[in-house]
Amino acid sequence: MSNNHRRSTKFVHWGRDPKSYHGVVNPPLVRTSTILYENFAAYLNPNTRFRYGRINNPLSENFENVMAQVEGGHKAISTCSGLAAITTTMFAFCKAGDHVLIVDGLYPPARGFAQRNLTKMGVEVEFFDPHIGADIKNLIKPNTAFIYMESPCSVTFEVMDVPAITKIAKEKGIITIIDNTWSSGVLFNPIKHGVNIVLMSCAKYVSGHSDINLGVVITDNEENYKRLKYFSVDAGQCASPEDLVLALRGLRTIEMRFKAAEENAARIIDWFKTREEIEEIFYPALETHRGHSIWKRDFKGANGIFSVMFREEYPMKSIEKFIDSLKLFPIGSSWGGYETLIQPQNLKPHRLNWDRNGYVLRFQIGHEDSRDLVDDLTQAMTNLKLKKKFIWY
Ligand SMILES: *Cc1c(COP(=O)(O)O)cnc(C)c1O
Repeated sequence: MSNNHRRSTKFVHWGRDPKSYHGVVNPPLVRTSTILYENFAAYLNPNTRFRYGRINNPLSENFENVMAQVEGGHKAISTCSGLAAITTTMFAFCKAGDHVLIVDGLYPPARGFAQRNLTKMGVEVEFFDPHIGADIKNLIKPNTAFIYMESPCSVTFEVMDVPAITKIAKEKGIITIIDNTWSSGVLFNPIKHGVNIVLMSCAKYVSGHSDINLGVVITDNEENYKRLKYFSVDAGQCASPEDLVLALRGLRTIEMRFKAAEENAARIIDWFKTREEIEEIFYPALETHRGHSIWKRDFKGANGIFSVMFREEYPMKSIEKFIDSLKLFPIGSSWGGYETLIQPQNLKPHRLNWDRNGYVLRFQIGHEDSRDLVDDLTQAMTNLKLKKKFIWY
Protein backbone atom coordinates (compact mmCIF):
# COMPACT_ATOMS: atom_id res chain seq x y z
CA MET A 1 0.00 0.00 0.00
CA SER A 2 1.53 3.29 -1.09
CA ASN A 3 1.61 6.13 1.38
CA ASN A 4 0.32 8.44 -1.34
CA HIS A 5 -3.02 6.70 -1.50
CA ARG A 6 -5.94 8.31 0.24
CA ARG A 7 -7.55 6.76 3.28
CA SER A 8 -10.62 5.23 1.58
CA THR A 9 -8.29 3.43 -0.83
CA LYS A 10 -6.18 2.22 2.08
CA PHE A 11 -9.21 0.85 3.94
CA VAL A 12 -9.92 -1.30 0.88
CA HIS A 13 -6.38 -2.65 0.60
CA TRP A 14 -4.93 -2.74 4.11
CA GLY A 15 -4.25 -6.22 5.51
CA ARG A 16 -4.89 -8.38 2.46
CA ASP A 17 -2.62 -9.86 -0.16
CA PRO A 18 -4.62 -12.05 -2.59
CA LYS A 19 -1.42 -13.15 -4.42
CA SER A 20 -0.19 -14.90 -1.29
CA TYR A 21 -3.29 -17.12 -1.15
CA HIS A 22 -4.34 -18.33 -4.64
CA GLY A 23 -5.89 -14.95 -5.55
CA VAL A 24 -8.56 -15.23 -2.86
CA VAL A 25 -9.69 -11.66 -2.16
CA ASN A 26 -9.94 -11.82 1.63
CA PRO A 27 -7.30 -13.12 4.07
CA PRO A 28 -8.07 -16.70 5.16
CA LEU A 29 -9.43 -17.52 8.60
CA VAL A 30 -6.47 -19.22 10.32
CA ARG A 31 -7.12 -21.23 13.47
CA THR A 32 -4.15 -21.71 15.76
CA SER A 33 -3.00 -22.94 19.08
CA THR A 34 0.04 -25.10 18.33
CA ILE A 35 2.62 -23.70 15.94
CA LEU A 36 5.56 -25.98 15.07
CA TYR A 37 9.20 -24.83 15.37
CA GLU A 38 11.62 -25.46 12.54
CA ASN A 39 14.36 -26.77 14.85
CA PHE A 40 15.88 -26.47 18.33
CA ALA A 41 17.60 -23.17 17.52
CA ALA A 42 14.27 -21.66 16.46
CA TYR A 43 12.72 -22.84 19.73
CA LEU A 44 15.49 -21.21 21.78
CA ASN A 45 15.47 -17.96 19.76
CA PRO A 46 13.36 -15.35 21.62
CA ASN A 47 12.76 -13.53 18.32
CA THR A 48 10.95 -16.44 16.65
CA ARG A 49 7.90 -14.72 15.16
CA PHE A 50 5.14 -17.24 15.84
CA ARG A 51 5.50 -19.36 18.99
CA TYR A 52 1.95 -20.20 20.09
CA GLY A 53 -1.44 -19.07 18.81
CA ARG A 54 -2.45 -17.23 21.95
CA ILE A 55 0.71 -15.09 21.94
CA ASN A 56 0.88 -14.17 18.25
CA ASN A 57 -0.42 -15.71 15.06
CA PRO A 58 -0.63 -14.69 11.39
CA LEU A 59 -4.21 -13.42 11.64
CA SER A 60 -3.88 -11.41 14.88
CA GLU A 61 -0.60 -9.95 13.66
CA ASN A 62 -2.24 -8.88 10.39
CA PHE A 63 -5.18 -7.23 12.14
CA GLU A 64 -2.92 -5.51 14.68
CA ASN A 65 -0.69 -4.11 11.92
CA VAL A 66 -3.74 -2.77 10.08
CA MET A 67 -5.09 -1.05 13.21
CA ALA A 68 -1.66 0.45 13.98
CA GLN A 69 -1.71 1.98 10.49
CA VAL A 70 -5.33 3.14 10.82
CA GLU A 71 -4.43 5.08 13.97
CA GLY A 72 -1.01 6.24 12.78
CA GLY A 73 0.63 4.31 15.64
CA HIS A 74 3.56 1.92 16.07
CA LYS A 75 2.23 -1.54 17.01
CA ALA A 76 -0.97 -2.96 18.49
CA ILE A 77 -2.35 -5.87 20.50
CA SER A 78 -5.77 -7.47 20.06
CA THR A 79 -7.92 -8.56 23.01
CA CYS A 80 -11.01 -10.71 23.55
CA SER A 81 -13.28 -7.65 23.98
CA GLY A 82 -13.26 -3.87 24.16
CA LEU A 83 -13.51 -4.02 27.94
CA ALA A 84 -10.50 -6.38 28.02
CA ALA A 85 -8.57 -3.79 25.97
CA ILE A 86 -9.33 -1.28 28.74
CA THR A 87 -8.52 -3.53 31.71
CA THR A 88 -5.34 -4.88 30.11
CA THR A 89 -4.11 -1.35 29.42
CA MET A 90 -4.97 0.01 32.86
CA PHE A 91 -3.19 -2.88 34.59
CA ALA A 92 -0.16 -2.67 32.29
CA PHE A 93 0.45 1.02 32.99
CA CYS A 94 0.16 1.32 36.78
CA LYS A 95 1.38 -0.37 39.96
CA ALA A 96 0.67 -0.32 43.69
CA GLY A 97 1.26 3.15 45.17
CA ASP A 98 0.46 4.99 41.93
CA HIS A 99 -2.23 7.62 41.41
CA VAL A 100 -4.26 7.61 38.18
CA LEU A 101 -6.53 10.26 36.66
CA ILE A 102 -9.63 8.96 34.86
CA VAL A 103 -12.27 10.99 33.05
CA ASP A 104 -15.66 11.14 34.76
CA GLY A 105 -17.95 10.03 31.94
CA LEU A 106 -16.00 7.01 30.73
CA TYR A 107 -17.69 3.78 29.65
CA PRO A 108 -19.45 2.66 32.88
CA PRO A 109 -18.02 -0.90 33.09
CA ALA A 110 -14.52 0.61 32.82
CA ARG A 111 -15.35 2.87 35.75
CA GLY A 112 -16.45 -0.17 37.74
CA PHE A 113 -13.21 -1.96 36.91
CA ALA A 114 -11.09 0.96 38.12
CA GLN A 115 -13.13 1.48 41.28
CA ARG A 116 -13.17 -2.17 42.28
CA ASN A 117 -9.91 -3.59 40.96
CA LEU A 118 -7.31 -0.82 40.58
CA THR A 119 -8.09 0.35 44.15
CA LYS A 120 -7.86 -3.26 45.39
CA MET A 121 -4.31 -3.38 43.98
CA GLY A 122 -3.33 -0.24 45.89
CA VAL A 123 -3.78 2.33 43.12
CA GLU A 124 -5.41 5.67 43.99
CA VAL A 125 -8.17 6.38 41.42
CA GLU A 126 -9.30 9.98 40.88
CA PHE A 127 -12.03 11.00 38.42
CA PHE A 128 -11.87 14.37 36.67
CA ASP A 129 -14.30 16.63 34.77
CA PRO A 130 -14.22 15.92 30.99
CA HIS A 131 -14.12 19.70 30.33
CA ILE A 132 -11.00 20.19 32.47
CA GLY A 133 -8.61 20.96 29.58
CA ALA A 134 -5.23 22.36 30.64
CA ASP A 135 -6.38 22.61 34.28
CA ILE A 136 -5.55 18.91 34.52
CA LYS A 137 -2.14 20.16 35.68
CA ASN A 138 -3.65 21.01 39.10
CA LEU A 139 -4.56 17.35 39.68
CA ILE A 140 -1.21 15.81 38.80
CA LYS A 141 0.77 14.31 41.69
CA PRO A 142 4.38 13.08 41.78
CA ASN A 143 3.06 9.49 41.57
CA THR A 144 0.48 10.02 38.78
CA ALA A 145 1.00 7.09 36.39
CA PHE A 146 -1.53 7.80 33.66
CA ILE A 147 -4.33 10.06 32.46
CA TYR A 148 -7.22 8.07 30.99
CA MET A 149 -9.56 9.82 28.53
CA GLU A 150 -12.62 9.00 26.45
CA SER A 151 -13.80 11.59 23.95
CA PRO A 152 -16.63 12.12 23.35
CA CYS A 153 -17.60 10.48 26.66
CA SER A 154 -20.22 7.74 26.92
CA VAL A 155 -23.95 8.65 26.86
CA THR A 156 -23.68 12.46 27.21
CA PHE A 157 -20.77 12.87 24.74
CA GLU A 158 -18.68 15.53 26.49
CA VAL A 159 -15.81 16.46 24.17
CA MET A 160 -12.34 16.65 25.74
CA ASP A 161 -9.55 19.03 24.80
CA VAL A 162 -7.15 16.16 24.09
CA PRO A 163 -4.20 18.23 22.76
CA ALA A 164 -4.29 20.50 25.86
CA ILE A 165 -4.12 17.45 28.13
CA THR A 166 -1.41 15.58 26.21
CA LYS A 167 0.76 18.73 26.17
CA ILE A 168 0.80 18.83 29.97
CA ALA A 169 1.17 15.06 30.31
CA LYS A 170 4.22 15.13 28.03
CA GLU A 171 5.85 17.90 30.09
CA LYS A 172 5.36 15.78 33.21
CA GLY A 173 6.25 12.43 31.61
CA ILE A 174 2.82 10.91 32.27
CA ILE A 175 1.30 8.27 30.00
CA THR A 176 -1.97 9.23 28.26
CA ILE A 177 -4.57 6.64 27.28
CA ILE A 178 -7.79 7.19 25.32
CA ASP A 179 -10.84 5.10 24.55
CA ASN A 180 -11.41 5.99 20.88
CA THR A 181 -14.41 3.72 20.20
CA TRP A 182 -16.64 6.70 19.24
CA SER A 183 -14.29 7.51 16.33
CA SER A 184 -13.05 3.94 15.72
CA GLY A 185 -9.97 5.19 13.88
CA VAL A 186 -12.02 7.13 11.33
CA LEU A 187 -13.15 10.44 12.87
CA PHE A 188 -10.17 11.18 15.15
CA ASN A 189 -6.66 9.72 15.42
CA PRO A 190 -5.44 10.60 18.94
CA ILE A 191 -1.80 9.52 18.49
CA LYS A 192 -1.45 12.42 16.05
CA HIS A 193 -2.60 14.67 18.92
CA GLY A 194 0.03 13.39 21.34
CA VAL A 195 -1.77 10.46 23.00
CA ASN A 196 0.45 7.43 23.85
CA ILE A 197 -2.11 4.61 23.92
CA VAL A 198 -5.34 4.32 21.90
CA LEU A 199 -7.84 1.56 22.57
CA MET A 200 -11.26 0.68 21.25
CA SER A 201 -14.01 -1.88 21.12
CA CYS A 202 -14.21 -3.45 17.66
CA ALA A 203 -17.75 -4.63 18.45
CA LYS A 204 -19.04 -1.17 17.43
CA TYR A 205 -18.23 0.55 14.11
CA VAL A 206 -15.12 -1.51 13.25
CA SER A 207 -17.13 -4.69 12.71
CA GLY A 208 -20.47 -2.89 12.33
CA HIS A 209 -22.80 -5.89 12.43
CA SER A 210 -23.37 -6.51 16.16
CA ASP A 211 -21.89 -10.01 16.15
CA ILE A 212 -18.33 -10.00 17.53
CA ASN A 213 -16.43 -9.39 20.77
CA LEU A 214 -13.02 -7.91 20.06
CA GLY A 215 -10.81 -5.09 21.30
CA VAL A 216 -7.57 -3.52 20.15
CA VAL A 217 -4.90 -1.34 21.79
CA ILE A 218 -2.54 0.72 19.63
CA THR A 219 0.71 2.11 21.04
CA ASP A 220 2.84 5.07 19.95
CA ASN A 221 6.31 3.52 20.41
CA GLU A 222 8.23 0.29 21.03
CA GLU A 223 8.74 0.87 24.77
CA ASN A 224 4.99 1.26 25.42
CA TYR A 225 4.22 -1.62 23.07
CA LYS A 226 6.54 -3.94 25.02
CA ARG A 227 5.05 -2.92 28.36
CA LEU A 228 1.58 -3.67 27.06
CA LYS A 229 2.47 -6.85 25.17
CA TYR A 230 4.38 -8.42 28.09
CA PHE A 231 1.46 -7.77 30.41
CA SER A 232 -1.11 -9.06 27.93
CA VAL A 233 0.91 -12.28 27.40
CA ASP A 234 1.17 -12.70 31.20
CA ALA A 235 -2.60 -12.20 31.46
CA GLY A 236 -3.40 -14.70 28.65
CA GLN A 237 -5.08 -12.11 26.47
CA CYS A 238 -6.02 -13.15 22.91
CA ALA A 239 -8.71 -12.72 20.24
CA SER A 240 -10.93 -15.17 18.36
CA PRO A 241 -9.98 -15.81 14.69
CA GLU A 242 -13.57 -15.45 13.43
CA ASP A 243 -13.84 -12.08 15.11
CA LEU A 244 -10.52 -10.91 13.65
CA VAL A 245 -11.68 -11.84 10.14
CA LEU A 246 -15.03 -10.08 10.66
CA ALA A 247 -13.28 -6.97 11.99
CA LEU A 248 -10.99 -6.84 8.93
CA ARG A 249 -14.05 -7.22 6.70
CA GLY A 250 -15.84 -4.44 8.61
CA LEU A 251 -12.99 -2.02 7.98
CA ARG A 252 -13.60 -2.24 4.21
CA THR A 253 -16.87 -0.30 4.54
CA ILE A 254 -16.29 1.61 7.77
CA GLU A 255 -16.02 5.10 6.28
CA MET A 256 -19.28 4.86 4.34
CA ARG A 257 -21.10 3.29 7.30
CA PHE A 258 -20.05 6.22 9.47
CA LYS A 259 -21.30 8.69 6.85
CA ALA A 260 -24.62 6.90 6.37
CA ALA A 261 -25.21 6.63 10.13
CA GLU A 262 -24.37 10.31 10.66
CA GLU A 263 -26.79 11.32 7.92
CA ASN A 264 -29.62 9.14 9.24
CA ALA A 265 -29.05 10.31 12.83
CA ALA A 266 -29.20 13.95 11.66
CA ARG A 267 -32.74 13.39 10.37
CA ILE A 268 -33.90 11.84 13.64
CA ILE A 269 -32.23 14.63 15.62
CA ASP A 270 -33.97 17.24 13.43
CA TRP A 271 -37.26 15.66 14.42
CA PHE A 272 -36.37 15.62 18.14
CA LYS A 273 -35.45 19.33 17.91
CA THR A 274 -39.10 20.11 17.11
CA ARG A 275 -40.44 18.20 20.11
CA GLU A 276 -41.39 20.10 23.23
CA GLU A 277 -41.12 16.91 25.32
CA ILE A 278 -37.32 17.05 25.00
CA GLU A 279 -35.16 19.12 27.36
CA GLU A 280 -31.78 18.49 25.72
CA ILE A 281 -30.15 16.52 22.91
CA PHE A 282 -26.60 15.31 23.52
CA TYR A 283 -24.66 15.11 20.23
CA PRO A 284 -21.29 16.78 19.52
CA ALA A 285 -22.26 17.90 15.99
CA LEU A 286 -25.03 20.15 17.40
CA GLU A 287 -24.00 23.78 17.88
CA THR A 288 -25.88 23.78 21.18
CA HIS A 289 -23.70 20.96 22.52
CA ARG A 290 -21.02 22.00 25.00
CA GLY A 291 -17.70 21.07 23.40
CA HIS A 292 -19.05 21.50 19.87
CA SER A 293 -16.18 23.87 18.94
CA ILE A 294 -13.51 21.38 20.09
CA TRP A 295 -15.31 18.61 18.22
CA LYS A 296 -15.30 20.80 15.08
CA ARG A 297 -11.61 21.55 15.51
CA ASP A 298 -10.45 17.94 16.09
CA PHE A 299 -12.96 15.52 14.51
CA LYS A 300 -13.68 14.67 10.86
CA GLY A 301 -17.37 14.00 11.46
CA ALA A 302 -19.93 12.41 13.76
CA ASN A 303 -21.71 9.06 13.96
CA GLY A 304 -25.12 7.54 14.63
CA ILE A 305 -25.32 7.78 18.43
CA PHE A 306 -26.91 10.52 20.50
CA SER A 307 -28.96 10.82 23.68
CA VAL A 308 -32.05 12.82 24.54
CA MET A 309 -33.24 14.03 27.93
CA PHE A 310 -36.99 14.28 28.49
CA ARG A 311 -38.33 17.22 30.45
CA GLU A 312 -38.49 16.14 34.06
CA GLU A 313 -42.25 16.59 34.43
CA TYR A 314 -42.81 13.43 32.38
CA PRO A 315 -43.33 10.54 34.82
CA MET A 316 -41.46 7.23 34.46
CA LYS A 317 -44.74 5.44 33.65
CA SER A 318 -45.29 7.46 30.47
CA ILE A 319 -41.61 7.14 29.43
CA GLU A 320 -42.06 3.38 29.85
CA LYS A 321 -45.15 3.44 27.62
CA PHE A 322 -43.25 5.46 25.02
CA ILE A 323 -40.37 2.96 24.99
CA ASP A 324 -42.54 -0.14 24.91
CA SER A 325 -44.74 1.14 22.10
CA LEU A 326 -41.80 1.68 19.72
CA LYS A 327 -41.69 -0.92 16.95
CA LEU A 328 -38.34 -0.15 15.26
CA PHE A 329 -36.32 0.78 18.37
CA PRO A 330 -35.59 -2.35 20.42
CA ILE A 331 -33.62 -1.98 23.66
CA GLY A 332 -30.03 -3.16 23.25
CA SER A 333 -26.72 -2.45 24.94
CA SER A 334 -24.52 -1.60 22.02
CA TRP A 335 -24.08 0.67 19.01
CA GLY A 336 -22.24 0.99 15.72
CA GLY A 337 -24.25 -1.77 14.04
CA TYR A 338 -26.57 -1.57 11.02
CA GLU A 339 -29.70 -1.63 13.18
CA THR A 340 -31.36 1.03 15.29
CA LEU A 341 -31.42 0.57 19.08
CA ILE A 342 -32.24 2.45 22.24
CA GLN A 343 -30.74 2.10 25.70
CA PRO A 344 -32.31 3.62 28.84
CA GLN A 345 -29.74 5.37 31.03
CA ASN A 346 -29.32 5.99 34.73
CA LEU A 347 -26.41 8.39 35.02
CA LYS A 348 -26.32 8.97 38.79
CA PRO A 349 -24.14 5.92 39.66
CA HIS A 350 -21.74 6.66 36.79
CA ARG A 351 -21.00 10.35 37.38
CA LEU A 352 -19.51 12.31 40.28
CA ASN A 353 -22.16 15.04 40.25
CA TRP A 354 -25.14 14.22 38.06
CA ASP A 355 -27.88 16.48 39.45
CA ARG A 356 -30.37 16.51 36.56
CA ASN A 357 -33.69 14.70 36.81
CA GLY A 358 -34.94 14.38 33.23
CA TYR A 359 -34.95 10.84 31.88
CA VAL A 360 -32.05 10.09 29.49
CA LEU A 361 -32.40 7.69 26.56
CA ARG A 362 -29.53 6.83 24.21
CA PHE A 363 -30.24 6.23 20.52
CA GLN A 364 -28.11 4.24 18.10
CA ILE A 365 -29.37 4.98 14.59
CA GLY A 366 -28.81 2.32 11.96
CA HIS A 367 -29.52 2.17 8.24
CA GLU A 368 -33.33 1.91 8.18
CA ASP A 369 -35.23 4.54 6.18
CA SER A 370 -35.36 7.57 8.49
CA ARG A 371 -38.98 8.27 7.50
CA ASP A 372 -40.03 4.92 9.01
CA LEU A 373 -38.07 5.73 12.17
CA VAL A 374 -39.68 9.17 12.48
CA ASP A 375 -43.19 7.70 11.92
CA ASP A 376 -42.55 5.18 14.68
CA LEU A 377 -41.29 7.85 17.10
CA THR A 378 -44.27 10.05 16.28
CA GLN A 379 -46.83 7.37 17.14
CA ALA A 380 -44.96 6.38 20.31
CA MET A 381 -44.76 10.00 21.50
CA THR A 382 -48.56 10.09 21.88
CA ASN A 383 -48.03 7.95 25.00
CA LEU A 384 -46.08 10.68 26.75
CA LYS A 385 -48.46 12.29 29.22
CA LEU A 386 -47.69 15.04 31.69
CA LYS A 387 -48.24 14.49 35.42
CA LYS A 388 -51.76 15.49 36.39
CA LYS A 389 -51.85 18.85 38.16
CA PHE A 390 -54.44 19.26 40.90
CA ILE A 391 -55.80 22.77 40.98
CA TRP A 392 -57.60 23.85 44.15
CA TYR A 393 -60.02 26.69 43.89
C1 LIG B 1 -18.90 -0.84 24.12
C2 LIG B 1 -17.78 -0.02 24.62
C3 LIG B 1 -16.66 -0.60 25.22
C4 LIG B 1 -16.57 -2.07 25.53
O1 LIG B 1 -16.57 -2.85 24.43
P1 LIG B 1 -16.92 -4.43 24.42
O2 LIG B 1 -16.31 -4.86 23.15
O3 LIG B 1 -18.40 -4.52 24.47
O4 LIG B 1 -16.26 -5.04 25.62
C5 LIG B 1 -15.64 0.23 25.59
N1 LIG B 1 -15.69 1.55 25.41
C6 LIG B 1 -16.76 2.15 24.87
C7 LIG B 1 -16.77 3.63 24.71
C8 LIG B 1 -17.85 1.38 24.47
O5 LIG B 1 -18.93 1.99 23.96
